[in-house]
Amino acid sequence: VWNFSAGPAALPLSVLERAQRELLDWNGSGASVMEQSHRGKRFIAMAQQVEANLRELMDIPDDYAVLFEQGGATQHFAQIPMNLAVEGDSADYIITGHWSEKAASEAAPYVRVNVAATSKSESYLRMSARETWKLDPNASYVHIATNETIHGVQFKQPPDVGNVPLVADMSSDILSGPVDVRRYGLIYAGAQKNIGPSGLVLIIIRRDLLERPTRPMAKIFRYVEHAAHDSMLNTPNTWGWYLAGLTFEWLKDNGGLAAMAELNRQKSELLYSTIDGSGGFYANPIDPPVRSRMNVPFTLHDSALDAAFLQESEAAGLLALKGHKALGGMRASLYNAVPLQAVQVLVDFMHDFARRHG
Ligand code: PLP
Repeated sequence: VWNFSAGPAALPLSVLERAQRELLDWNGSGASVMEQSHRGKRFIAMAQQVEANLRELMDIPDDYAVLFEQGGATQHFAQIPMNLAVEGDSADYIITGHWSEKAASEAAPYVRVNVAATSKSESYLRMSARETWKLDPNASYVHIATNETIHGVQFKQPPDVGNVPLVADMSSDILSGPVDVRRYGLIYAGAQKNIGPSGLVLIIIRRDLLERPTRPMAKIFRYVEHAAHDSMLNTPNTWGWYLAGLTFEWLKDNGGLAAMAELNRQKSELLYSTIDGSGGFYANPIDPPVRSRMNVPFTLHDSALDAAFLQESEAAGLLALKGHKALGGMRASLYNAVPLQAVQVLVDFMHDFARRHG
């Protein structure tokens, strides 16, 4: 079967098989990795290697800290303004879909949110041109979601926002291709699409931003404290950290992020060309330059066929194609763990379904 879930998503099969092999006796310790002390030598050595591998994969400069956090990306919607702004400050938000909209609304109790651009009135089918954004040069930061998991739009390059730090929610496209980390002040990503199990959140933050003054708050909310304690201020998500490490090794063994970018381009082009070439049987109305390479929403020309499409696709071993309830229709998520072969099977099924129901 092939899993097209938007998240929690499939992990590479070899990662799961290795985790299964190591489950009861990790690293010769006689116990599971879940049972290791996070203060123990073995775990710390592994944790450091996982960070080193991520730094190598993403080419993360030394003046950025990497944090292995918890709380889901949603908690960091709030924690980011708590750490980067004080009372009275404002921050610019670029709204390109559900998740950037939610990030802005969750930030609002902690920072004055300036919606510098929004494509909501166009149903998020395109992004507003960079020249039209109303950025404030005094903003604490500019926030974007690089990939909108529900609406299927993606920044292919980071926007130029001058000297104001760019903060990016990369939950659904991190590690899908190379990024120039230096273009960002802070990158954050929930793990459950391209990294590992839910419950782990990666934060990559330029160290100078850790020094910003904040309102009084408990240490557990302060990124600077997490950095000072190597993400072990309290018990980290040890299982998530370990599995993230297996995924990073898998990425290194499979050509790194440049290879992922090429594979994700091929997978998404195969699916979009099938949709566009279906004579109207399938549709994806998103402006082509901003179409996501990770999440492809599409509709059938007659929604009365949706139930049959879902039933038959599942019977054919194609899982989790039901679209998000906000948009209806279908959605195929093409994260790193989804091989080209899976998309080939999907498009073959789509051709066949269209032939039989067209
Ligand atoms: N941001 C994006 C782009 C997402 O896709 C999601 C979840 O799917 C979230 C944030 C929220 O993540 P979490 O459920 O881990 O809080």
